[in-house]
Amino acid sequence: MTTSLHYQMYIDGDWVDSAVSTDVINPASDELVATVAFGNADDADRAVASALRAHRNGEWRNTPPEERAKVMSRWVEILNERMDDLVDLHIAENGVTRRQAMAFHVGYAISHLQYFADLAASYEFTRSGPMLGYPTTAAGIVRREPFGVVAGIVPWNFPMLLAVWKFGPALAAGNTIVLKPDEKTPLTLLEMARAADDAGIPAGVFNVVTGPGEVVGARLAAHPDVRKVAFTGSTAVGRTITELSAVNIKKVTLELGGKGANIILPDADLSQAVDAALFAFCLYQGQACESGTRLLLPESLHDEFVARLVERAAAIRVGDPDDFDTDMGPIISAEQRQRIEHYVELGTKEGATLAFGGARLTGGEFDSGNWFGPTIFTDVDNWMTIAQEEIFGPVLVVIKYRSVAEAVAIANDSEYGLSAGVWSEDIDAALDVAAQIESGTVWINDWHMVNALYPFGGYKQSGNGRELGPHALDEYTEEKFVHVDLARRIE
Ligand code: NAD
Repeated sequence: MTTSLHYQMYIDGDWVDSAVSTDVINPASDELVATVAFGNADDADRAVASALRAHRNGEWRNTPPEERAKVMSRWVEILNERMDDLVDLHIAENGVTRRQAMAFHVGYAISHLQYFADLAASYEFTRSGPMLGYPTTAAGIVRREPFGVVAGIVPWNFPMLLAVWKFGPALAAGNTIVLKPDEKTPLTLLEMARAADDAGIPAGVFNVVTGPGEVVGARLAAHPDVRKVAFTGSTAVGRTITELSAVNIKKVTLELGGKGANIILPDADLSQAVDAALFAFCLYQGQACESGTRLLLPESLHDEFVARLVERAAAIRVGDPDDFDTDMGPIISAEQRQRIEHYVELGTKEGATLAFGGARLTGGEFDSGNWFGPTIFTDVDNWMTIAQEEIFGPVLVVIKYRSVAEAVAIANDSEYGLSAGVWSEDIDAALDVAAQIESGTVWINDWHMVNALYPFGGYKQSGNGRELGPHALDEYTEEKFVHVDLARRIE
């Protein structure tokens, strides 16, 4: 396929090109999807300046929250109308399967934006506190006010959804934002900008600057006029962003890596737990931070569970993501596949047993694109690198445990703490385990069920702060106490 499709950046309500452009490549076919402007630090500065002007002119900030909710809902309507095109484009840039793109990557992104639009209308921006009777008579008011300019830096795995988690609450709270997509997946975010423009989001309130992370992302994180940065990506880059943002004591929320422990208790319903264990580590080819990548099995179930899991893994359909029946598409890039291969090699060296998969898929339809099927390691000890580091591919490590206390200890023996799961027919037992796990999310008899109504984020090195949930706007507002002296009025 040849293409003449070219995307520009969206700054101050205008489409802006750059001196250089870059290619967006379809990871399933290696074909060119589009060329896109490749911005630099000056573009980041221009976008921040426009966001600051929009903040200072107050048009968006002073729009009543109910009106902001209406504009954001119009944005959602437009995105819904364009859903089919967004799904097609997203499959092409990101390699997600059609089923997952419709339900999750694109579908969730749009419905979560509606959640934030509704939150703009229902959030308590002003709360009155208790009357003060001593040492003076006074009333107290607490106001929640926008920070000003927010920067959102997002990765390639769920670009639309993870961007919505940032600009949704930011704009609902009256901030302005500059978004930086990953170099590999900027297209659907730029389509979201087009929809923002059509919905009547004022110029400068929503900006998208493309370009390299180390240049554009780093500039945004260090920029003195940016008051808050929200980031999703690797723990290493999260650390850099924390350092850069210290220059003006920015507020920072980080959603970083994970190494989710999926604990199967001895009484679990295996007919569901086996399928779910597969789902937990294979969704979007395992390229999700909240994947269940460590499977903790009691000795009593180990052999049967592994045998059933391997049988199910063999039935997974890897292939053309465009096809509605495909279960797994390609890995995002050749570089990422190499990273996965490196870990597989390391796992074998460290003494784990490769029970399934472990090699790149080649031949026929796999001759172009980056393919790697489900891979399962058994005989894994939690100290091994493949049990400690985030692989970001469809690789599962299976670890045996002897007691529930040991399973909890293994689950918590990780610098990550983003997601975990417990499988049991005894809800009390599962709740007891859930209470002991150091993780921002624990699913009982489920996985991947991220819900806009509930907070999402990590313990330990999986991040700072929470996205989603009814308190999401707290992370995008300053709290101001206004004291109103009434003593002289009452006397
Ligand atoms: P990354 O952290 O390098 O990139 C994420 C975003 O940060 C991108 O937009 C990138 O351009 C930007 N960025 C990169 N360097 C930056 C810098 N110095 N300053 C500011 N912004 C910068 O992630 P990646 O390279 O896409 O993937 C590497 C690993 O990160 C993966 O293998 C995986 O372990 C992890 N990861 C985690 C998530 C997640 O959802 N938690 C998502 C993607 C990747």
